[in-house]
Amino acid sequence: MEYIKSRDIQQLMKLIISSGNIAIIGHMKPDGDALGSCVAMFHFLGQCGVEKRHIIFPDAFPAYIDFITEGMEKESILTHTDDPETAERAIRDSDLIICLDFNAFHRTDRLENALIESSAKKILIDHHLNPDLRNFEVVFSETEVSSASELLFHVLKATPVTEGQITRLDPRARTALMTGMTTDTNNFANSTYPSTLKMASELLEAGVDRDLIVHNLYNRHSENRMRLMGHVLKDLMTITYDGVAYIVLDSRTQKEYEINDGDTEGFVNLPLAIDKVRMSLLLKEDGDRVRVSIRSKKGTSANLCAKEHFNGGGHENAAGGRLHIGQEIGSIRDAAAYIEEHTHLFLNGK
Ligand code: 5GP
Ligand code: MN
Repeated sequence: MEYIKSRDIQQLMKLIISSGNIAIIGHMKPDGDALGSCVAMFHFLGQCGVEKRHIIFPDAFPAYIDFITEGMEKESILTHTDDPETAERAIRDSDLIICLDFNAFHRTDRLENALIESSAKKILIDHHLNPDLRNFEVVFSETEVSSASELLFHVLKATPVTEGQITRLDPRARTALMTGMTTDTNNFANSTYPSTLKMASELLEAGVDRDLIVHNLYNRHSENRMRLMGHVLKDLMTITYDGVAYIVLDSRTQKEYEINDGDTEGFVNLPLAIDKVRMSLLLKEDGDRVRVSIRSKKGTSANLCAKEHFNGGGHENAAGGRLHIGQEIGSIRDAAAYIEEHTHLFLNGK
């Protein structure tokens, strides 16, 4: 990763210190990195003496990452789906907005308009390709890092609050950063850079309990999730001639296994373990949309496939998007044919 500019740190600190009310914003369907980076920023702002601050998400984060918020008051985190007015008011009332783990306002879905309308100064700390620079006063954007949590770790380390010593950061922020990095790297399976291991090493030295994080993330799933995983791999996974594995989870199956948000986390990665699979897609029916997750091996771009065929984007080998029922497909039953046709087009350029 690139060197963090001291001028950007000075500007960041100036904006934080001169603000009385700060909104920390994460993307829709928040994952461990979104929640981890937002929570770490929340505690850091506390250390800077900022009392009035909220984390605001478009919708709820899955229960299995709730442990990241330990030691926080419930009211500190607002979700637009829970209470649209309070979430929008918090954005309106803030004089500084810090955006973490997304590259453009549209990734905040229901919060997008409030962000566009806000005249507050805005800061971006993110690790996705193509950040929408024009909306921000200060930008920390770096794609050669594992996660927004890792980038934030390097940023916070460069501030006068820590002076290079991560032990000076609130312990809850340290745990949140380690957790966000762990989920985005799939527990060090991908996107792991030298700087990632340095971060992990420093956090471990500072006393972060990684065993507990790993236990919380990977060993506390519901029985149903494991049973669904079996069903998915045995009966629902298709592999095309092009080496594309895809899984379609319709609403009926999700209901049958009483699946909650987050329960299918990691499913999309499983088919990549098969030699001939170069790209894997997981489709989940969600009301009138189908949420699409894409993962790919080196040499195949999940990002481009998501962009060109699934109304989305993301990173080179991990991306997402959506299909709309009644538009690209008539019903969830058409999803398989859509995937086969469009991934074939994508991979063969015809
Ligand atoms: P996931 O499959 O875990 O939902 O998403 C994988 C990655 O793709 C994440 O880094 C996420 O931020 C990104 N991503 C997911 N959906 C979208 C989307 O609709 N647009 C863009 N630009 N990125 C997305
Ligand atoms: Mn991320």
